[in-house]
Amino acid sequence: MRILVTGGAGFIGSHLIDRLMEAGHDVICLDNFYTGHKRNILKWIGHPNFDLIRHDITETIRLEADQIYHLACPASPVHYQSNPVKTIKTNVMGTLNMLGLAKRVKARLFMASTSEVYGDPEVHPQTEDYRGSVNPIGIRSCYDEGKRVAETLCFDYHRQNGVDIRVARIFNTYGPRMLENDGRVVSNFIVQALRGQPLTVYGDGSQTRSFCYVSDLVEGFIRLMNGDHIGPVNLGNPGEYTIKQLAETVQAMVNPEIPLDYKPLPQDDPRRRQPDITLARTWLGWEPTIPLQEGLERTIADFRDRLT
Ligand code: NAD
Ligand code: UDP
Repeated sequence: MRILVTGGAGFIGSHLIDRLMEAGHDVICLDNFYTGHKRNILKWIGHPNFDLIRHDITETIRLEADQIYHLACPASPVHYQSNPVKTIKTNVMGTLNMLGLAKRVKARLFMASTSEVYGDPEVHPQTEDYRGSVNPIGIRSCYDEGKRVAETLCFDYHRQNGVDIRVARIFNTYGPRMLENDGRVVSNFIVQALRGQPLTVYGDGSQTRSFCYVSDLVEGFIRLMNGDHIGPVNLGNPGEYTIKQLAETVQAMVNPEIPLDYKPLPQDDPRRRQPDITLARTWLGWEPTIPLQEGLERTIADFRDRLT
């Protein structure tokens, strides 16, 4: 199959491309390199089945593909908040362009949505039928409302134009190739610990997140894309940890001497987050297999290589 991956030079996109290339597909990676890097896909450059296109998805493009994995969008709060209008354009105009492309070439489109569509949830754990508690005018809105519109666009193109869609709601994911200046909690803690700096815990660290290792997530993507259910489907690891527990885990694994440094909690930071993955289990036969400790070991090893 010819498979287009938007955002393919990013963290998750590049791991997905590895899987697709190893399976023998023709892969087109489309990226504007805002948060993605050529080094993530370097090993495929020059391979006859691989094409790299530097392109911003807010502009239209004509391509041929059988499947489109649509991942292009900065995912870390630091990056998506640094140019919020651009984030909305990427989510709305970019998704519109990709759905238009899918409609023209009759490709199946996989939308990388997010647990952020649930906002600061009143339902715990979050099930797909929960409609969310999102602030439409806050500093996270460019991302979470942007993704909500992107989901709406998917379903409207599906109903109105018969576009074949798959929608995944991705929960916090971590692993090798996260950017060291990414600002997300796992990369921050690991980079700080390796550099001998205090670990910056925002708020009192009692807020929770559920962390999925990237190879587990990619397996879920491929099953959803090639299965019969359009979603939305939660993809994430149901293991729930407080941010303080995560800090203590990284501390114990890298350097127990390093202190925790408590900082103010950012605006609209969700209090709790944990996926209910019943649908993914029943529809896709999918669940995560890599425990946090093991995933952290692999991620720490990757950062250690890059930082030294
Ligand atoms: P990332 O920032 O590493 O990757 C995003 C990629 O999209 C980058 O390569 C970037 O250069 C590219 N991009 C951004 N704007 C673009 C544009 N206008 N045109 C073309 N390319 C553009 O992030 P990631 O963690 O790999 O996330 C991938 C997708 O998964 C995103 O859509 C994100 O919203 C979603 N997601 C990720 C997580 C997570 O925990 N990592 C959680 C929920 C959802
Ligand atoms: N966080 C933290 N220290 C950091 C970075 C993040 O305590 O150095 C917290 C952040 O406030 C949030 C959680 O960790 O409660 C997850 O943050 P991240 O940016 O990784 O993802 P998101 O908030 O989008 O889930």
